[in-house]
Parts: sequence; C-alpha cells; structure tokens
Amino acid sequence: MENDKVKYCKYCGAKVAYEAVVCVSCGRQIEMLSTNGNQTVVVNNTNKVIVGGRRCNKWVAFVLCLLFGILGIHKFYEGKIGMGILYLITGGLCGIGWIIDAIVILFKPNPYYV
Ligand SMILES: [Zn+2]
Repeated sequence: MENDKVKYCKYCGAKVAYEAVVCVSCGRQIEMLSTNGNQTVVVNNTNKVIVGGRRCNKWVAFVLCLLFGILGIHKFYEGKIGMGILYLITGGLCGIGWIIDAIVILFKPNPYYV
C-alpha cells in the first residue's frame, strides 16, 4: 500500500512521510497530534488546588485538637509551627482557640489543604 507510506501536503502539495504531522516543505501542521496511533495527550488540571498546600486528614486533626488542642498539637500537625508554639504558651488561647479550631476542623472537607 503506497498510501500508507506517503501523503501529500494539503497546503503546498509536497510529498511528506505518512506519519508526519508537520510538512517539511512549508512547515505547516497537517495533522492533529491525537490522530497518530492511539497516543493521547491528557491534560489534567485537577491537581492545581493541591499546589502549595499541605494535605491534612480531617479526623486526625480533629482528634489531635480534641485531645491535645490546648497544647496546639493540631497546629503542629498542620505545619503551623508558630501558631503551635503560641497555643502551647497560652493554653490554646485560653481554651478559646482550642474550641473554635475543633469546630472549624469539623466543618472542613476531608482531606483538607492548608
Ligand atoms: Zn506543505
């Protein structure tokens, strides 16, 4: 089959390899990239939200907050070292920060990103 090896550019008529996607004579794209065999280009945008965030398990954070929240252990778990030390010194902001954090964590999605 001669047609399997060679084709002609639809812009300038030059003879090009059948697998070619760009004409060597005029430089134009003559085929869509996805028509080459069964190769597919997958563009995945779903990971964008994770970039720069630290993945936290909601229930781990919640239990840590309930049991050790007064010591700010859940803040250390979230990677917020400065806040953790502040909680450690102030006793979970006199217990207020502790209670608020427990409620906030409870309403977060699982997993959540900080
Ligand atoms: Zn051409």
